[in-house]
Amino acid sequence: MQLSARVKNVSASLTLAITAKAKEMKAQGIDVIGFGSGEPDFDTPGHIKDAAVKAIHDGFTKYTPASGIDPLKKAICEKLQRDNGLSYDPSQIVVSCGAKHSIYNIIQVICDRGDEIIIPAPYWLSYPEMAKLAEAIPIFIDTEEKTNFKIHASGLKKAVSKKTKAIIINSPSNPTGCVYSERELKEIGKIAVESNIAIISDEIYEKIIFDGKKHVSVASLGKEIFKNTIVVNGVSKSFSMTGWRIGYIASVNEGVVSGIKNLQSHSTSNPVSISQIAALEAIKGDDSEVNTMVAEFEKRRDYIVKRINAIDGFSCVKPEGAFYVFCKIEKGDLSSMELSQRLLEEARVALVPGKAFGSDKHVRLSFATSMGNIEKGMDRIEEWFRKN
Ligand code: PMP
Repeated sequence: MQLSARVKNVSASLTLAITAKAKEMKAQGIDVIGFGSGEPDFDTPGHIKDAAVKAIHDGFTKYTPASGIDPLKKAICEKLQRDNGLSYDPSQIVVSCGAKHSIYNIIQVICDRGDEIIIPAPYWLSYPEMAKLAEAIPIFIDTEEKTNFKIHASGLKKAVSKKTKAIIINSPSNPTGCVYSERELKEIGKIAVESNIAIISDEIYEKIIFDGKKHVSVASLGKEIFKNTIVVNGVSKSFSMTGWRIGYIASVNEGVVSGIKNLQSHSTSNPVSISQIAALEAIKGDDSEVNTMVAEFEKRRDYIVKRINAIDGFSCVKPEGAFYVFCKIEKGDLSSMELSQRLLEEARVALVPGKAFGSDKHVRLSFATSMGNIEKGMDRIEEWFRKN
């Protein structure tokens, strides 16, 4: 069967290829240390699980409205007000099957063939593929260590064309851990408003932020910016709920919201009813669990950054949020794929080649794994660099 050009054009996930190889090695009894994880290594809090179990026993197991149940939308509005200073009405929220689904929906709804989506690079690997699936063109703005992997408003101005529909801002960022300041976001927001493009603000890592910093939602930085921004968030990272598949968007743009509601009603329908109850329990609770998790992540970050920067041929900037370090390969002209493959085969350490995120001179290490694993894995990496 001939597949659609649209699907043939999508790249297979490099992350998955390395993960599969690491899994195969583990199945053969080889002790591999995994730095590939994209999810917190903590369990979903007990009270959230209990709420889901109760939902099952209560028979809350049928279709819900396609865009999510009202109590959850109300709780999301309260959260956006409380945490981000944003005022939305429940009718301006759409709940989807994870933040990934939310972003996919937005791009489907706002892009026609040949439209452009601006993506700061390094980027989360799904953004360009989602653009391609909408027959849109990803336009990258390259960044580097010098600017902590952040774009400047002037770079955005240069990248905008008549075809630009949106820019994606992901702060805190996967894979670099960079966090934009209020001033930086304001400047970016101003250019977006002047250029009449949307800001897709992926805030999925908002709570995983270090050094006492506070996350700022770009949508909160002025009336016009608020109108242009589509906020994306979810429960996956903040509440260790990656498997439950609940994400959401908030937007005052009626066309975007009703477009997504329609699209979703004819594709996935509602996100899992039980997961919606679990997400409601998570969102209406306090941040005590996430704070405990962040304190642990911060300890691990400090440790791993120190170890990486002590290795000759390897370096990283200190991530300010999320749970990844994006490390520069300063050894010869090893590509990210070569280094990842060799570290897996020769040092039994699995990490993700930067090529997947738009830089072949970097690799991504996740510290969403135990301190014991990090220590052991870093010993192995250090030894490999010393010998090679
Ligand atoms: N955005 C970014 C930057 C992510 O890293 C991820 C998860 N890897 C997502 C969105 C998607 O999260 P979810 O599990 O809610 O679909």
